[in-house]
Amino acid sequence: MNAIGIENLRRPYAEGGVNLLDVRARNDAVALTVLQSYMKSPPERPVWAYLVDHIFRLCAVRRYQTVDSSLLINPFVQSWDVYTQAKGLPLVFKRMYSTGRKYSVSIHAWSPQVALQLKMPYWWHVGTKGKLVSVYNDKWGKCIQRTHHLSSVGDLLAHANKNQAATCSERVNCACINCIEDRALGCEHPPKCRRNAGKKLSNLLDIWNPLKASQYIAVGAQPQIPGQDPEWTPVVPMHENYAYPHEAARIFTLDAFSTCRPTLNNEHMNNDIAPSSSAEGAQVITVWTDGSCSDNGTKYAAAGSGLWYHAQNARNRAIRLPGEYLTNNIAEVMAVIAAIQDNGNVPCLRIITD
Ligand SMILES: [Zn+2]
Ligand SMILES: [Zn+2]
Ligand SMILES: [Zn+2]
Repeated sequence: MNAIGIENLRRPYAEGGVNLLDVRARNDAVALTVLQSYMKSPPERPVWAYLVDHIFRLCAVRRYQTVDSSLLINPFVQSWDVYTQAKGLPLVFKRMYSTGRKYSVSIHAWSPQVALQLKMPYWWHVGTKGKLVSVYNDKWGKCIQRTHHLSSVGDLLAHANKNQAATCSERVNCACINCIEDRALGCEHPPKCRRNAGKKLSNLLDIWNPLKASQYIAVGAQPQIPGQDPEWTPVVPMHENYAYPHEAARIFTLDAFSTCRPTLNNEHMNNDIAPSSSAEGAQVITVWTDGSCSDNGTKYAAAGSGLWYHAQNARNRAIRLPGEYLTNNIAEVMAVIAAIQDNGNVPCLRIITD
């Protein structure tokens, strides 16, 4: 008997297969369902999830244990890894963890708002620069971790800001209330410690650094991205309003990260097709259209349509669709309608859509 490819066996009977269950895919789906519960935010978060936090913390790969263990909050919210061969890691959570990594479950936000920036755990932050400006375990880094127990970005920012108080002399023997309190905790030189906390924040990429926030997005405002083409309508993800960092976790984030900037050019695409002429000799205008939607079909759906002519073409448009219960198909059709409306006088319009 000839060998039959497993892909063929998985096909339905009508296509010559035997409806074989794809066990691996099913197991992955089960593991991702467990992970989804684990990643719920309070009050929906199950009690076992807190126990798993603790187990993961104990099983963290050694190099990530250089920070105080209480600062390892969640490997999918931060960027530390769990050692999956660790004894005492139950199989169900090992599978949950490995499957989450396989499908790159991670924090992802297009333009995180200040509220989310502040709530993110600071240590092993997903948005840490490749090369640290201020290492984790210098003298004050240790004080920040072990004396002050500062965990979130907001904690570090609040610590740094205590030096701004009018009453603080920023000297070692300062008699301001914050310095008295910090020294009582065991901090040798609170003002120096706080300056270090401020420096530690610059370990974060700008989009995650609350000190750099204003150039991106003030809550509810249009973002002002330097050098932005004024012809483009910026697409503002207004739904990125998370109460807990867990809510910003997404699956398949590797793709999302690689395309997280709006596509402003794609020069090679148009060169071989446009401009051209129709059979009657009239000039043909070619436009590519697309539409997309997140939370498809729900009350909170956010959808947009795009038109693209050429790289840097002033007529390229991105449109944020108004209303609720939007779908990707509405966005696709709106893109085509917008293309037609924008080209009322064009004798021959070619729309390339999907
Ligand atoms: Zn002081
Ligand atoms: Zn200190
Ligand atoms: Zn499309």
